[in-house]
Amino acid sequence: MPCFVEVAVAGVDGLFHYHLPPALESWGLTPGVRVRVPFGRTERIAYFIRFVASPDIATTKPISAILDRSPLMDPPYFRFLSWIGDYYRAPIGAVIKCALPTLPSRHRTVSTPQARQATPPLSAVLRLNAAQQKAVDVMAGAIGQFSPFLLHGVTGSGKTEVYLRLIEAALRAGKGAILLVPEIGLTPQLMDRFHQAFGDALTLLHSRLTPATRNQAWRRIREGAAHVAVGARSALFAPFSNLGVIIVDEEHDPSYKQEDGVRYHARDAALVRGQQSGAVVVLGSATPSTESFHNSQTGKYRYLSLPERIDARPLPVVHPVDLRPQAEWVQPFFTKTLVSAISRCLAAKEQVLLFINRRGFSPSLLCADCGDIPGCTQCSVSLTFHRRQTILVCHHCGYQTAPPSSCGICQGRRIITLGLGTEQAEMAVHTLFPDARTARMDRDTVRKKGAQEQILTAMAQREIDVLIGTQMIVKGHDFPGITLVGILCADQSFHFPDFRAAERTFQILTQVAGRAGRGERPGQVLIQTFQPEHESIQAALTHDYEGFYRREIALRKELYYPPFSRLTRLQLTHQEAHQASEGAAALAALLREVASKKGGALSVLGPAPAPIVKLRGRYRYHILLKAGAQRTIARAMDAISGWKGPRGLRMDIHVDPQGFV
Ligand code: ADP
Ligand code: ZN
Repeated sequence: MPCFVEVAVAGVDGLFHYHLPPALESWGLTPGVRVRVPFGRTERIAYFIRFVASPDIATTKPISAILDRSPLMDPPYFRFLSWIGDYYRAPIGAVIKCALPTLPSRHRTVSTPQARQATPPLSAVLRLNAAQQKAVDVMAGAIGQFSPFLLHGVTGSGKTEVYLRLIEAALRAGKGAILLVPEIGLTPQLMDRFHQAFGDALTLLHSRLTPATRNQAWRRIREGAAHVAVGARSALFAPFSNLGVIIVDEEHDPSYKQEDGVRYHARDAALVRGQQSGAVVVLGSATPSTESFHNSQTGKYRYLSLPERIDARPLPVVHPVDLRPQAEWVQPFFTKTLVSAISRCLAAKEQVLLFINRRGFSPSLLCADCGDIPGCTQCSVSLTFHRRQTILVCHHCGYQTAPPSSCGICQGRRIITLGLGTEQAEMAVHTLFPDARTARMDRDTVRKKGAQEQILTAMAQREIDVLIGTQMIVKGHDFPGITLVGILCADQSFHFPDFRAAERTFQILTQVAGRAGRGERPGQVLIQTFQPEHESIQAALTHDYEGFYRREIALRKELYYPPFSRLTRLQLTHQEAHQASEGAAALAALLREVASKKGGALSVLGPAPAPIVKLRGRYRYHILLKAGAQRTIARAMDAISGWKGPRGLRMDIHVDPQGFV
């Protein structure tokens, strides 16, 4: 009787059965060991999962070779990947591909990792303040067992230093540590600080590394040469076998959710990995997600707070500026109040940050005669006008075209620009303050490698007077020279078709505001808006996180949204509009049938056209599943797993969705 084995092939759906040829039977296999298998007409690298009693095909092929003496991952790590696959309904092969480096097929044998005692280096800060010290003591005291914490620290309260000390404590205990940050390119200051503290024990992991660098980083962790991994969400997959601490900085940040491929949420998955490996898990933020704060209230997480800025510096004073009175406008979206505040700031040789949230409000062209707005041919969105390059660009699929000199519908020649973008704002600053040194930071200006770091360094060295940018300028930066922050139009994110729109707006406003007055001089924030009475603005004016949370959690409860329920969003797309809508309707009907057997435990909402109904040439519909427990949704998904819609219909499953467009 041959020995049957089940393997996962990196990047391929499903699990496959083979047998071990007699020559390889004595080798012994542990989960995660790589093997080479015949696959179609070629050979592929696969990962041994388990032995099976009887294979699911009549004639199995033999495994060609066993590639590792010891596995690239240990059993607990493999258990974690399996959890990701099960929970987010992704094939294990896809999870492995997303987690593990793409190692060349002929490689060195990886030796068993050895726990090595690292010598913790000295920290650069003077002393921790009382709140920081308490947080470190409590969390460091919990190392060695699964203990989740919410570290709620106002902007500028010194969270980085707390993370650093906690990681030092983990290293002293002979354990490894992972620090997740929203975007690695945006954190050169944090990286410098960590390099200084951990030197060679530190390794970077993120998706933009070359395969070779990624392999090397992976190996250094497996071999016990690196003890600290820092990176964006994929750093959660760092293969430490002895994890002491996982820290998720800015835990509320939407970029922790991977939106394609394996759609995992790195923050949520961090808690599972922490639980499986007995680690301390720290979720840090000035504006915790409603879900996480709720968990700290119910006792699921322990709550620690850093209620004050370092050296008891005051939080910036935040003023609303009403955008409605036209007489106030000096230039589009530059009110008299904002312009005079910038003047004062520049005269005092201080720095200004101007924030524009372009999400959902792109500047576009408009025909003043018939009202037509040039749109993308492949997506149901308007094209964004880029003046410097004189092109219209689709921000979703990249489609580009020359701006029309006359309207495509009515041939009218009065083509005007609509809305506000970073480019226009920078031009306005040039017009108003010709002597000011400006820089713009958005996806366009940081495309070149190193451009982002360059801008941030210039900002730190005070070579820039006014920095204009999108979300990128919000995240975590610490520039003591900034005393004025202007939010040109806060209204841009209120009206997103997402139950988290108010929360996101509040988070963004608070985070942007938090960049002001971090140095010795106090900061001022001007929030320009057409709706000064909006609850997100009111809460941001008074830095009232808890007030905002109380209203938000009541609303979530009333509408039965997370954390009170769980959601899964099914997205159905097809190249033909009617196929997409009919396929979605058929699936929804089937799901309703399944739900009716569950006696109301599961609700099926939709189908409805997605807010962006056409994207990259495909028509999009979605169905929302809502239940008290994810289990209920998972069972319904199992029940329909064999369902096939019209030919060419694609279904994407978003468990715990973060976006709804
Ligand atoms: P947060 O991430 O909470 O917004 P940071 O970690 O960026 O805040 O810290 C803000 C600033 O305070 C940084 O310049 C940091 O070096 C400094 N800092 C942190 N802790 C201390 C301390 N105990 N004493 C003096 N300065 C500190
Ligand atoms: Zn497009």
